[in-house]
Amino acid sequence: MRQTIAIVGANLAGGHAARTLRAEGFDGEIQLIGSEPHPPYERPVLSKEVLLRQCEPERAYLQSADVWSQQDITLRLGTTVERIRPTERELELSGGGAIRADKVLLCTGGRVRRLDIPGSDLEGVEYLRTIEDSIAIRERLRPGAPVVVIGGGFIGAEVAACARESGCVVTLLEHGDVPLSRVLGREIGLALTRIHREEGVTVATNTSVARIEGNRSVTHVVTTEGDRIEATLVVIGVGIDPAVELAAQAGLDVDNGIIVDEFCQTSNPGIYAAGDVANHPNGILGERVRLEQWQNAANQGAAAARSMLGRQEKFCEVPWFWSDQFDVSVQMVGRPSAEDAIVYRGDPESRSFSAFFVRDGALRGAVGVNRPRDVKRTTAYIASGQTVDSAKLADETVDLRTIGL
Ligand code: NAP
Repeated sequence: MRQTIAIVGANLAGGHAARTLRAEGFDGEIQLIGSEPHPPYERPVLSKEVLLRQCEPERAYLQSADVWSQQDITLRLGTTVERIRPTERELELSGGGAIRADKVLLCTGGRVRRLDIPGSDLEGVEYLRTIEDSIAIRERLRPGAPVVVIGGGFIGAEVAACARESGCVVTLLEHGDVPLSRVLGREIGLALTRIHREEGVTVATNTSVARIEGNRSVTHVVTTEGDRIEATLVVIGVGIDPAVELAAQAGLDVDNGIIVDEFCQTSNPGIYAAGDVANHPNGILGERVRLEQWQNAANQGAAAARSMLGRQEKFCEVPWFWSDQFDVSVQMVGRPSAEDAIVYRGDPESRSFSAFFVRDGALRGAVGVNRPRDVKRTTAYIASGQTVDSAKLADETVDLRTIGL
């Protein structure tokens, strides 16, 4: 009898999983189910090129709608899975109906954290996660428009940069000490904050928002210190939470995401998880991680597909991502921590340098600011854990492929 694999989440991870199932020869039925009306799409352009009007949102689609049908992948869009019945291997769908599946992959992703403060439901207060969100923000990025960005993470930094490049008057409010420091570390966060200020963004740290004011549409943001900042657009980017409700209700192990093993399998054999929602053991890093990154979503989705087909390959990658802000492209590989010593190559006060994070003689991570080649050349050292020569890391004349001891 023809097998069925159901994928919950028609997003990057789910889309890659579905395509990989076919590419690897699976000839059963593939049901790809998503709440949004769109076929799977990628998010990076939504907080960069789409806002800058350098491309239309359709560019984000992983592939066009007709290719999904050519691959015999059934897209069920605008459909929410309300409940999983694990014993029966059945998914209950919104609006009635159910799907029986031999295997299930959960790519339920994350949900934006909402700020529950007065005025947060005014017109012009936006979050950025979906295609519609990106279009709504873009509509308000007009030259001279006052824009307040709440949250100095990646959404905050990328939106602030696009707003400034669109000629807006931009204020970025971060409740911690240094924007972007949670992922990139304090020093790189400071370097990027300096660049934002040089470009004319007002960056306020250690500050929280008390309320948003307006009459139907937003007019001001008021901080807990009592500062009242004009705004016709407020973008809130204060993180996401993994969407674990379905998994929890189905009795799967959940702890900061859905717990999976190195084969993307959850605590219930036959149910798998991948992408932003999956908390997996990473053999290279030696710890469990839940990564909210493009590369992880794409490759873990594909890895889960191979596991569902019985291939015994562990999913284990060095985390990597990039972010574009103004004329700066930042790439990070590995997982630096505050305990690591930092070795710079190039001037951290400039817009072209790399920072290497070293612990116990081994390279743990690298951040390149307009230095993609440095990041690429050091990735293998991070993966192998081989001891490196810090003097060579710092010396611009040394080829980074020769830093091993
Ligand atoms: P994020 O990167 O986790 O950053 C959230 C930021 O908001 C943090 O700096 C956080 O500070 C701050 N914050 C939290 N509560 C706040 C509050 N009440 N007031 C002011 N600031 C507050 O999350 P995000 O920027 O919302 O992005 C969502 C997801 O998309 C993330 O997973 C992100 O990595 C991903 N994304 C990735 C890229 C990329 O890879 N280029 C681009 C855009 C988005 P603390 O850390 O101190 O709490």
